[in-house]
Amino acid sequence: MNITHPFLDSDGDKLREECGIFGVIGAREAAAITAAGLHSLQHRGQEAVGITSFSGDEFHSHRGIGHVAQVFSQKELDTLPGNMASGHVRYATTGGSGLRNVQPLFADLAAGGFAIAHNGNISNAMTLKHDLVSKGSIFQSTSDTEVIIHLVATSRYPTLLDRFVDALRMVEGAYSLICMTPEGMIACRDPLGIRPLVMGRIGDATVFASETVAFDIVGAEFIRSIEPGELVQVDHKGTISSHRPFGDPAPRPCIFEHVYFSRPDSVMDGLSVYQVRKQIGVELAKEAFADADVVIPVPDSGVPAAIGYAQESGIPFELGIIRSHYVGRTFIQPGDAARHADVKRKHNANRAVVEGKRIVLIDDSIVRGTTSKKIVEMMRDAGAAEVHMRIASPPTEHSCFYGVDTPERSKLLAATMDTAAMADFIKADSLAFVSIDGLYRAVGQEKRASKCPQFCDACFTGEYPTKLTDFTDRFPAELNAA
Ligand code: SF4
Repeated sequence: MNITHPFLDSDGDKLREECGIFGVIGAREAAAITAAGLHSLQHRGQEAVGITSFSGDEFHSHRGIGHVAQVFSQKELDTLPGNMASGHVRYATTGGSGLRNVQPLFADLAAGGFAIAHNGNISNAMTLKHDLVSKGSIFQSTSDTEVIIHLVATSRYPTLLDRFVDALRMVEGAYSLICMTPEGMIACRDPLGIRPLVMGRIGDATVFASETVAFDIVGAEFIRSIEPGELVQVDHKGTISSHRPFGDPAPRPCIFEHVYFSRPDSVMDGLSVYQVRKQIGVELAKEAFADADVVIPVPDSGVPAAIGYAQESGIPFELGIIRSHYVGRTFIQPGDAARHADVKRKHNANRAVVEGKRIVLIDDSIVRGTTSKKIVEMMRDAGAAEVHMRIASPPTEHSCFYGVDTPERSKLLAATMDTAAMADFIKADSLAFVSIDGLYRAVGQEKRASKCPQFCDACFTGEYPTKLTDFTDRFPAELNAA
């Protein structure tokens, strides 16, 4: 992502994952496999895409603004020969759109070519960049990822792997990386494993991706997750070596991947995302039962939790909102007026199951509250007798600094209102959120371990698991922890 305030450019009503990454080594048509993998990760970034391949003596890149299918046809893939390729989908932010920030980033280092694709956000990138620039580094992009390239370039260690580890020791924050050098591919996850990364196999080829769904699409077999703090190196003979240079810190993967970001058909840290979402609905029904006639999901992300809520409560599940598949995600439209119109175009009430009914509406989260308000109004316009909103995550009270685009804290509804005031704001008859322990139960834990939480849950709790050097002074409101 870009070295700007990560929240300033967000004007939508969903948190959004900013990147998805994919890499393959040892396969014919590696670039085509990468394009297919990125296509399945499109939900993680819809505004720009890039692929870099290596043909044995040369790196080749093609990058563009748009969806994978818009940027890559056979013609572009034909310009990306070789048995190794990696790629990246991302959201561009206002200050940082443009091809120079589209990844993979590439540099010719003294040790050879180096391509890097990054999911996450380096929370001391501005501080490191300032230092590097003062020593003569010249940056080509505004991406935090480029800091890693300069740190590798200026490291004094002899081997590229050692230089890479040396660079990573200096960065804070969240990073899942897929890097390519003439010797092969390196995939790694930050010491807390905040952003996901998985490894698989197609025949003799090794593949890496942000989510397992990419393996389903390219016909790869899932092997395992890259462990938090692990670097996996694969050479062109297919030899795989694992390195653990950061010791063994307790992992803190992002719990929001389970709530919303990942596709429900992915397996995240050993858990089916779909099953977890359903279980959140079960917990929600136990904690916040509403006496109602029907359970209605806000499609699509509220569907699994609504199924769980309906099963646990015994209230029938109905599709009371139909989503048009021919409009983009709500947040793509800037400005309040456009966003409101967009909600209407995206969702329509199914009057046949809403009219005269007391309904429980299930959504995954409330960010600004504007979408929830519109949807409640839509249910009332369609004749709902009562609207009880139930949310499959705790109140989102804090901004994310780890590669997820969130509004600034003052724009988060839960940061400025209590639950009763939020219910008034969205004009619901009642509103309830799953508790933080309910969410932890849904991901297979007994409860949140308050001394050493098992996940990053900072957007709910304000307990950030890393130092946030670039942000501590600049954004005290965001860091005003719970
Ligand atoms: S702050 Fe929230 S969205 Fe960001 S990494 Fe942590 S849990 Fe995920």
